[in-house]
Amino acid sequence: MKLTLVQGDITEQPVDAIVNAANSSLLGGGGVDGAIHRKGGPEILAECRALRASRYGGGLPVGEAVATTAGLLPARWVIHTVGPVFSRSEDRSHLLASCYRESLKVADALGAATVAFPAVSTGVYRWPMDDAARISVTTVLRSESNVREARFVLFDFAAYEIFDRVLREFG
Ligand code: ADP
Repeated sequence: MKLTLVQGDITEQPVDAIVNAANSSLLGGGGVDGAIHRKGGPEILAECRALRASRYGGGLPVGEAVATTAGLLPARWVIHTVGPVFSRSEDRSHLLASCYRESLKVADALGAATVAFPAVSTGVYRWPMDDAARISVTTVLRSESNVREARFVLFDFAAYEIFDRVLREFG
Protein backbone atom coordinates (compact mmCIF):
# COMPACT_ATOMS: atom_id res chain seq x y z
CA MET A 1 0.00 0.00 0.00
CA LYS A 2 1.29 3.43 -0.97
CA LEU A 3 0.78 6.16 1.62
CA THR A 4 0.39 9.72 0.29
CA LEU A 5 -0.29 13.13 1.84
CA VAL A 6 -2.19 16.10 0.50
CA GLN A 7 -3.28 19.37 2.01
CA GLY A 8 -6.91 20.02 1.09
CA ASP A 9 -10.57 19.24 1.51
CA ILE A 10 -11.47 15.56 1.77
CA THR A 11 -14.85 16.10 0.09
CA GLU A 12 -13.06 17.03 -3.15
CA GLN A 13 -10.85 13.94 -3.38
CA PRO A 14 -11.35 11.82 -6.52
CA VAL A 15 -10.78 8.51 -4.74
CA ASP A 16 -12.92 5.38 -4.43
CA ALA A 17 -13.74 5.99 -0.77
CA ILE A 18 -13.36 8.84 1.70
CA VAL A 19 -13.39 8.27 5.43
CA ASN A 20 -15.67 10.37 7.61
CA ALA A 21 -14.70 11.33 11.17
CA ALA A 22 -18.30 10.73 12.23
CA ASN A 23 -19.88 10.62 15.65
CA SER A 24 -21.68 7.66 17.10
CA SER A 25 -25.13 8.92 16.13
CA LEU A 26 -24.21 8.81 12.41
CA LEU A 27 -26.63 11.69 12.01
CA GLY A 28 -24.17 14.44 11.18
CA GLY A 29 -22.03 16.90 13.08
CA GLY A 30 -19.40 19.57 12.50
CA GLY A 31 -15.96 19.42 10.89
CA VAL A 32 -15.41 16.74 8.25
CA ASP A 33 -18.79 15.19 9.00
CA GLY A 34 -20.64 18.46 8.37
CA ALA A 35 -18.73 19.09 5.13
CA ILE A 36 -19.46 15.57 3.81
CA HIS A 37 -23.20 15.80 4.45
CA ARG A 38 -23.40 19.39 3.17
CA LYS A 39 -21.65 18.64 -0.12
CA GLY A 40 -22.77 15.03 -0.52
CA GLY A 41 -26.48 15.82 -0.29
CA PRO A 42 -29.32 14.07 1.59
CA GLU A 43 -28.71 10.57 0.21
CA ILE A 44 -25.83 9.93 2.62
CA LEU A 45 -27.88 10.96 5.66
CA ALA A 46 -30.79 8.80 4.49
CA GLU A 47 -28.46 5.77 4.38
CA CYS A 48 -27.07 6.66 7.80
CA ARG A 49 -30.62 6.81 9.19
CA ALA A 50 -31.32 3.38 7.71
CA LEU A 51 -28.19 2.02 9.44
CA ARG A 52 -29.42 3.47 12.76
CA ALA A 53 -32.79 1.81 12.21
CA SER A 54 -31.20 -1.59 11.56
CA ARG A 55 -27.68 -2.73 12.38
CA TYR A 56 -26.64 0.21 14.58
CA GLY A 57 -29.68 0.98 16.72
CA GLY A 58 -27.40 2.04 19.57
CA GLY A 59 -25.12 4.07 17.29
CA LEU A 60 -21.82 3.14 15.66
CA PRO A 61 -19.37 2.15 18.42
CA VAL A 62 -16.06 4.05 18.77
CA GLY A 63 -13.32 2.43 16.67
CA GLU A 64 -15.73 0.75 14.23
CA ALA A 65 -16.51 1.64 10.60
CA VAL A 66 -19.40 1.29 8.16
CA ALA A 67 -19.91 2.41 4.56
CA THR A 68 -22.60 4.30 2.70
CA THR A 69 -22.62 5.58 -0.86
CA ALA A 70 -21.23 9.10 -1.36
CA GLY A 71 -24.17 10.97 -2.88
CA LEU A 72 -22.99 13.94 -4.93
CA LEU A 73 -19.31 13.63 -3.96
CA PRO A 74 -16.63 12.53 -6.46
CA ALA A 75 -15.88 9.46 -4.33
CA ARG A 76 -18.05 6.36 -4.64
CA TRP A 77 -18.32 5.55 -0.97
CA VAL A 78 -18.09 7.20 2.43
CA ILE A 79 -16.67 5.04 5.19
CA HIS A 80 -17.94 6.39 8.51
CA THR A 81 -15.78 5.77 11.56
CA VAL A 82 -16.06 7.11 15.09
CA GLY A 83 -12.83 8.31 16.67
CA PRO A 84 -12.29 8.40 20.42
CA VAL A 85 -12.42 11.69 22.31
CA PHE A 86 -8.87 12.44 23.52
CA SER A 87 -8.28 11.85 27.22
CA ARG A 88 -5.21 12.70 29.31
CA SER A 89 -6.20 10.22 32.03
CA GLU A 90 -6.95 7.20 29.82
CA ASP A 91 -4.95 5.85 26.87
CA ARG A 92 -7.41 5.44 24.00
CA SER A 93 -4.78 4.99 21.25
CA HIS A 94 -6.01 1.47 20.46
CA LEU A 95 -9.41 2.93 19.58
CA LEU A 96 -7.89 5.53 17.26
CA ALA A 97 -5.77 2.82 15.58
CA SER A 98 -8.91 0.68 15.27
CA CYS A 99 -10.64 3.44 13.23
CA TYR A 100 -7.95 3.13 10.55
CA ARG A 101 -7.78 -0.68 10.62
CA GLU A 102 -11.56 -1.11 10.48
CA SER A 103 -11.91 1.51 7.72
CA LEU A 104 -9.37 -0.38 5.62
CA LYS A 105 -11.29 -3.63 6.21
CA VAL A 106 -14.48 -1.97 4.99
CA ALA A 107 -12.56 -0.58 1.99
CA ASP A 108 -11.36 -4.10 1.17
CA ALA A 109 -14.91 -5.46 1.40
CA LEU A 110 -16.06 -2.73 -1.01
CA GLY A 111 -13.17 -3.35 -3.39
CA ALA A 112 -11.93 0.24 -3.00
CA ALA A 113 -8.40 0.73 -4.37
CA THR A 114 -7.92 4.33 -3.24
CA VAL A 115 -9.00 5.64 0.15
CA ALA A 116 -8.69 9.13 1.64
CA PHE A 117 -8.49 9.62 5.41
CA PRO A 118 -8.88 12.79 7.47
CA ALA A 119 -6.95 13.15 10.73
CA VAL A 120 -9.61 11.39 12.80
CA SER A 121 -10.21 12.77 16.34
CA THR A 122 -7.96 15.84 15.88
CA GLY A 123 -10.80 18.38 15.63
CA VAL A 124 -13.70 18.53 18.06
CA TYR A 125 -12.30 15.39 19.77
CA ARG A 126 -9.06 17.29 20.60
CA TRP A 127 -6.43 14.60 19.92
CA PRO A 128 -2.98 16.30 19.64
CA MET A 129 -1.98 16.32 15.96
CA ASP A 130 1.55 14.90 16.34
CA ASP A 131 0.38 11.93 18.42
CA ALA A 132 -2.59 11.31 16.10
CA ALA A 133 -0.25 11.44 13.09
CA ARG A 134 2.08 8.85 14.63
CA ILE A 135 -0.80 6.47 15.48
CA SER A 136 -2.52 6.93 12.10
CA VAL A 137 0.57 6.56 9.93
CA THR A 138 2.01 3.55 11.77
CA THR A 139 -1.37 1.77 11.87
CA VAL A 140 -1.97 2.20 8.14
CA LEU A 141 1.61 1.17 7.30
CA ARG A 142 1.23 -2.03 9.34
CA SER A 143 -2.21 -2.96 7.99
CA GLU A 144 -2.73 -5.82 5.59
CA SER A 145 -5.01 -4.52 2.86
CA ASN A 146 -5.69 -4.64 -0.86
CA VAL A 147 -6.01 -0.85 -0.91
CA ARG A 148 -3.42 0.52 -3.36
CA GLU A 149 -3.27 4.09 -2.08
CA ALA A 150 -4.12 5.41 1.37
CA ARG A 151 -4.17 9.19 1.17
CA PHE A 152 -4.13 11.40 4.26
CA VAL A 153 -5.94 14.65 3.58
CA LEU A 154 -4.89 17.39 5.98
CA PHE A 155 -6.99 20.48 6.13
CA ASP A 156 -4.26 22.98 7.02
CA PHE A 157 -0.56 23.30 6.34
CA ALA A 158 0.44 22.85 10.00
CA ALA A 159 -1.22 19.42 10.07
CA TYR A 160 0.29 18.54 6.69
CA GLU A 161 3.78 19.37 7.98
CA ILE A 162 3.31 17.20 11.05
CA PHE A 163 2.12 14.21 8.97
CA ASP A 164 4.97 14.76 6.53
CA ARG A 165 7.54 14.64 9.34
CA VAL A 166 5.97 11.51 10.85
CA LEU A 167 5.84 9.79 7.46
CA ARG A 168 9.55 10.48 6.92
CA GLU A 169 10.28 9.07 10.36
CA PHE A 170 8.24 5.85 10.07
CA GLY A 171 7.57 5.40 6.35
P1 ADP B 1 -13.24 14.67 15.20
O1 ADP B 1 -14.61 14.87 15.82
O2 ADP B 1 -12.94 13.22 14.93
O3 ADP B 1 -12.17 15.39 15.96
P2 ADP B 1 -13.37 16.77 13.14
O4 ADP B 1 -14.13 16.72 11.87
O5 ADP B 1 -13.79 17.78 14.16
O6 ADP B 1 -13.39 15.27 13.72
O7 ADP B 1 -11.83 17.03 12.81
C1 ADP B 1 -10.94 16.07 12.29
C2 ADP B 1 -9.87 16.76 11.46
O8 ADP B 1 -10.39 17.05 10.16
C3 ADP B 1 -9.39 18.11 12.00
O9 ADP B 1 -7.97 18.11 11.92
C4 ADP B 1 -10.01 19.13 11.08
O10 ADP B 1 -9.18 20.29 10.92
C5 ADP B 1 -10.05 18.38 9.78
N1 ADP B 1 -11.05 18.80 8.78
C6 ADP B 1 -12.17 19.57 8.94
N2 ADP B 1 -12.83 19.70 7.77
C7 ADP B 1 -12.12 19.00 6.83
C8 ADP B 1 -12.27 18.75 5.43
N3 ADP B 1 -13.30 19.24 4.73
N4 ADP B 1 -11.33 17.97 4.81
C9 ADP B 1 -10.29 17.45 5.49
N5 ADP B 1 -10.10 17.64 6.81
C10 ADP B 1 -11.00 18.41 7.47
